[in-house]
Amino acid sequence: MSEDPPTPTEVVYPLTPAHDVSRETEPVAPPADPWGVEDPLDTPIARAAETAMRVRSGRAGAFTVPPATRVLTVANQKGGVGKTTTTVNLAAALALHGLRVLVIDLDPQGNASTALGVAHHAGTPSVYEVLVEGLPLSRVVQPAEGIEGLFAAPATIDLAGAEIELVSLVARESRLQRALETYLAGQPAGQRIDYVFIDCPPSLGLLTVNAFVAAREVLIPIQCEYYALEGLSQLLATVNLIRDHLNPELDISGVVLTMYDARTNLSVEVANEVRRHLADAVFATIVPRSVRLAEAPSHGKPIALYRPDSKGAEAYEALAHELRARRDAAAAAATAVAATAAAGAAA
Ligand code: ATP
Ligand code: MG
Repeated sequence: MSEDPPTPTEVVYPLTPAHDVSRETEPVAPPADPWGVEDPLDTPIARAAETAMRVRSGRAGAFTVPPATRVLTVANQKGGVGKTTTTVNLAAALALHGLRVLVIDLDPQGNASTALGVAHHAGTPSVYEVLVEGLPLSRVVQPAEGIEGLFAAPATIDLAGAEIELVSLVARESRLQRALETYLAGQPAGQRIDYVFIDCPPSLGLLTVNAFVAAREVLIPIQCEYYALEGLSQLLATVNLIRDHLNPELDISGVVLTMYDARTNLSVEVANEVRRHLADAVFATIVPRSVRLAEAPSHGKPIALYRPDSKGAEAYEALAHELRARRDAAAAAATAVAATAAAGAAA
């Protein structure tokens, strides 16, 4: 048995009473390296180099490419639940496994662009020009810093106006879908994009609707706090509406519990409650509350580059594995969520 403190996932899944597990905010000994590699130099550069070596040496394990490009929308109209953190770090984890990954920043706040270190100051060609002016997506996509195969379409503050400007445009709900389809079809042979993540703003307006129409899958981060499930029925109802009228292929790929703090009973209770309601729709991996995850964007880096040895990096690495394996289970998840939505509507 491992001598490490249990991870949040180990604690809550399968459901057990609360344990007192360590989290990164307290000065505990660094967790053992999951790949069994000692970290000789405690510097960001050394860590980044180590991550790169793991990947190059195949120790992180190259993932097989999915049969077709997977397009995921990361959505929850509640603010600050971990949408951007999940988008950026999942995308980075997959790219570090050798996949080609595009992040589309659909939030005028531009947080995903910041976190990936891509330019998004006023005047930068961005998702706004793609949606409103019909600029090809290929003209705005930039390589993310430090990770080969990771790309981002940035958002500038202009996007704040798009919500209103889109209203009067032709095909206003499917402008992102068209742009993305053209972009994906235009990739050179052998350089297909394997995953696309769309980071949504905290609203269910036209920007988020565009994301739902462009995607096949929806990933819903839920923060482990008291009002966790509030607003979820509305989100699921919107997904159902989109499925009925605009995108019959849309599926829920799952719910990710974020900012889990095993020291608080509340986190444990909320995680249990969410699992009780959403069952198999919830990913087994739970993202812990981690100060490293919160710090990483200020360095313009995903956690896998900023602190690859942290619990947050481990969690997103595990989530990447789970997401990859979950495709087949997506239908089951969607059924569970639909049943919950139906029960909610009947109540
Ligand atoms: P918004 O609705 O504003 O777009 P969001 O849903 O994208 O927010 P994030 O920006 O990812 O949420 O996270 C909100 C804040 O919480 C950020 O400051 C982020 O750094 C921090 N945060 C996210 N996940 C974690 C975590 N697991 N541990 C600690 N802090 C986190
Ligand atoms: Mg965000």
